[in-house]
Amino acid sequence: MISPDEALKLIFDESPVLGEETAALARSVDRVLAADVRAQVALPAFDNSAMDGFALRAADLKDATANNPVELSVLETVRAGETGRLEVKPGEAVRIMTGACLPRGADSVVMVEMAEEAAPGMVRLTQAARRGSHVRVRGEDVLEGSLLLEKGALLRPYDIALLAAQGIMDVAVVRRPRVGVLSTGDELVDAREPLVPGKIRDSNGPALLAALSRWGAPAENLGIAPDEPAALRATLESALERSDVLVVTGGVSVGDFDCTKPVFAELGIREVFWKVAIKPGKPLFFGVLEKRDARTKLVFGLPGNPIAALVCLEEFVRPALERLQGFAPKHPSYHLSGAALNDYPKPADRRQYLFCRARRGPGGYELDIIRPQGSAMLGMASRANALAIASEGVDRVRRGDPLFFRWLK
Ligand code: AMP
Ligand code: MG
Repeated sequence: MISPDEALKLIFDESPVLGEETAALARSVDRVLAADVRAQVALPAFDNSAMDGFALRAADLKDATANNPVELSVLETVRAGETGRLEVKPGEAVRIMTGACLPRGADSVVMVEMAEEAAPGMVRLTQAARRGSHVRVRGEDVLEGSLLLEKGALLRPYDIALLAAQGIMDVAVVRRPRVGVLSTGDELVDAREPLVPGKIRDSNGPALLAALSRWGAPAENLGIAPDEPAALRATLESALERSDVLVVTGGVSVGDFDCTKPVFAELGIREVFWKVAIKPGKPLFFGVLEKRDARTKLVFGLPGNPIAALVCLEEFVRPALERLQGFAPKHPSYHLSGAALNDYPKPADRRQYLFCRARRGPGGYELDIIRPQGSAMLGMASRANALAIASEGVDRVRRGDPLFFRWLK
């Protein structure tokens, strides 16, 4: 049994960044840049007004006060999208809208709220203006040729705005990992088949596929395989051709008919680890298939119990998928803290993920640890809204103990 931190480190060591592909900008959010992007144009591309108001020469307002108003003649109105026709000379101004090109000769903008319409075609101003006020200067935000985004950046809507402003339509991004999902177990039937005594519905397939679709990983539903080595082997062999990552649930434990691990071995999958000091999820298997002419495939054997399978998926498979795409994994992140409302015994040699009802109390978050909880208890997990962690080395959570947690989304 290895520690969960050690397990993650071993996974990362085996997860090299995938190759690149081109993505349309509109579809590139949450993707990772495969190359640096430099600015093709300055931003803003021309001097323009940050306000609706009057473009003028600050020197004209040098002595303006309420008692000594200055009147300027208004030459024309410049709308956003237009460049003015006329040059602003001393004693003159131009009505200007936000985003419109600053006319020649003007060096400042006074907000419309600070100006008074005087006689027709005249504007009265009662305050001095700082030179350059409310003017967005060409290149003040981004210089032409400058580095906009570095290879490895995870694209956020803010970055999409920047790239769109540059007129960039396609970006080079890291390919997304293709994931195959297979449920194994003689007891499993899918939703379309009749449920005869002794059988259960497959929960893992739908749950894992749902989680993967949220994370943007194109996942292939490999269906259900029986606890029968030849059939399992045939399914896995063809799936491995198409996938970067295989996620198999069930049959990785020590039951008489658990055949997943021996089949992995037959297929040449090298075991990196089996069994991690966590609860739920202890029998987690991780291995790799190294092919001479193809890239390494990652193979996860998750425990069959659905809650354990999902915890393992979030704790270990998701960071691997992030790593394959070339960014520092940020999931899962237990950045919230709350106080346990009840005692809960746990195995001292393992980290336990505790399903809780979290709520805000007078002194911060309070965590009601759901009792009982177990890796096969689907109703229990569905009632939880938070997952807390109790560390290795502790044999009991006590009422009042602070625990790190995350929302269960
Ligand atoms: P195993 O890991 O194969 O020993 O399975 C552990 C438990 O999880 C057993 O009770 C199985 O019936 C159950 N199980 C395995 N696979 C699934 C699945 N896909 N959906 C729901 N329960 C499952
Ligand atoms: Mg089984």
